[in-house]
Amino acid sequence: MCGIVAYLGENNAYDVLIKGLKRLEYRGYDSAGIALIDKDLSIFKKQGKVNDLETTFSGKTPHGKVGIGHTRWATHGEPNDVNAHPHYSSDKNLAIIHNGIIENYDSIKKELQQKGHQFLSETDSEVFIHFIEDIQKNNKCSLDEAVRIALTKVVGAYAIVILSKDNPDQLIAARKGSPLVIGIGAENNEFFLASDATPIVEYTKNVVYLNDEEVAIIDKTTGINIKNIEAIEQSPYVHTLDMELEAIEKGGFDYFMLKEIFEQPRSVADCMRGRLISEKEHALLGGIRKHFNDLVEAKRIIIVACGTSWHAGLVAEYVIEEFTRTPVEVEYASEFRYRNPIINKGDVVLAISQSGETADTLAAIELAKNKGAIILGICNVVGSSIARASHEGAYTHAGPEIGVASTKAFTAQLTVLYILALMLAKEKNTITKNQFLELSRQMESIPDKIKQVLDLNDEIEKISTLYKDVRNFLYLGRGYNFPVALEGALKLKEISYIHAEGYPAAEMKHGPIALIDKEMPVVVIATRDSSYDKIISNIQEVKARQGKVIAVVTKGDALIPSMVDHVIEVPPTHEAIMPLVSSIPLQLLSYHIAIMRGCNVDQPRNLAKSVTVE
Ligand code: GLU
Repeated sequence: MCGIVAYLGENNAYDVLIKGLKRLEYRGYDSAGIALIDKDLSIFKKQGKVNDLETTFSGKTPHGKVGIGHTRWATHGEPNDVNAHPHYSSDKNLAIIHNGIIENYDSIKKELQQKGHQFLSETDSEVFIHFIEDIQKNNKCSLDEAVRIALTKVVGAYAIVILSKDNPDQLIAARKGSPLVIGIGAENNEFFLASDATPIVEYTKNVVYLNDEEVAIIDKTTGINIKNIEAIEQSPYVHTLDMELEAIEKGGFDYFMLKEIFEQPRSVADCMRGRLISEKEHALLGGIRKHFNDLVEAKRIIIVACGTSWHAGLVAEYVIEEFTRTPVEVEYASEFRYRNPIINKGDVVLAISQSGETADTLAAIELAKNKGAIILGICNVVGSSIARASHEGAYTHAGPEIGVASTKAFTAQLTVLYILALMLAKEKNTITKNQFLELSRQMESIPDKIKQVLDLNDEIEKISTLYKDVRNFLYLGRGYNFPVALEGALKLKEISYIHAEGYPAAEMKHGPIALIDKEMPVVVIATRDSSYDKIISNIQEVKARQGKVIAVVTKGDALIPSMVDHVIEVPPTHEAIMPLVSSIPLQLLSYHIAIMRGCNVDQPRNLAKSVTVE
């Protein structure tokens, strides 16, 4: 987490940095800070949001043409002014911004303290810059060489940019595990560095993605020079960004989250475009070619993911097993990587992550790769670490997702996973022609069905007013709607801070039913499918204990409305792909409840979007 941004060029660095930090604020908002050089190297930093930084220092910053900026998601030391980045070296000639964690910072800190270094903050990042300074002084070497040597000694994850008072025409950057993109301005003498491309796209589309364990010297005269950790020169590869500025602006909505919820008819359509065409019996993810046969022959598919992506993985488990008969296991990446899992050669691992930077998922990939598995990555962010660490994969093409709570990225992940299941089932002949046609036609009608659910926004807002003050919520679903219940509960707790649990409806009687009384709202996803009769019994069990039921039902349902307190009618579709429809009203319900409680839905407390820490 944390957003980092840096600028080197002819314009006012302050303006570029502040704008960039605002775009990166979704990655962390505990504090913000910038360092600028105008004769002196000065740091301006403040606990809170980028706006607080701006108000505190407005009119007080120098007009430097080089600078670095940081928006923090604290890992070491509480969020306050002192722990905010950038951090100085002890002679104040260097300043660093850092995204990640230096795991062995404590032993390095002790060593440096013995040599007389004094630390102002509790962060690992301050230790990092003192360490680099110490190496440079001892070895009498260049700054980039000192950084390279430091990298051979630190353990952990980092994306760093260093500013040096002695060399205002240069920035030094390095990364391992945390992302870093370098944008190259038109004249080749203006550079923009950032954790992702959102602060860059407005200035240039030419970017270089730094690889793990590479050090870049970005210089106004000599351009970008990259060395790896063994000091071997690397040639930078310039990519063209496929991102428009409008995609990262709010476009008339109050919050990015609402904009992103309403974008779903388009984002799902974009994700399917050219990949699924029912009338041609075509299902193809172009990014999975060389290893498609491995997928067809896989004895087992293991899905690794975290959070919302893990919920998408659960839906995939049901659909892949049902239509392709390949066994699927879904694992939390953080558990998988630490439990010595059995991975056989020929197992295929699907790694799902919106940002493509999720640290636990990346580590799970490395583990599985070392054991001989084929890795297929499913990410939203093009060029992200997971995309690059995977053998092959598919992008979800949902466009930048800025709201911290994932919405359109989730439905795009589902869409990719459905296409993958269909292409696999077709190749394995485990699906009939009619089934394929039925499912792919239903998929094609999903964007329109999502639109119909979005039309219920006012109705859902009304229901939300009745429940905005409750302390707990229960979400129940069965079959394909069980992961939807989990996702609905997660969405509510992350943005409204109401405690919420998702359960398979039939599990309720094994414990959670004890919680039900007239204060307890229960959201039941009860669309017409093969477990419809069973879920009706579950609804009755809740009603018998005076729980309040909000039921998501299939349009025209004649039975459930008479039993429950509120109904949200969604259009019918095949039960396997219902999650693409039934998850939408739950996103809106969480959104409205959170707004009514005065919460900042785009930047919920304690959370950040791209989880680059373990
Ligand atoms: N470890 C650093 C800090 O706590 C950076 C945190 C991060 O990247 O999330 O300040």
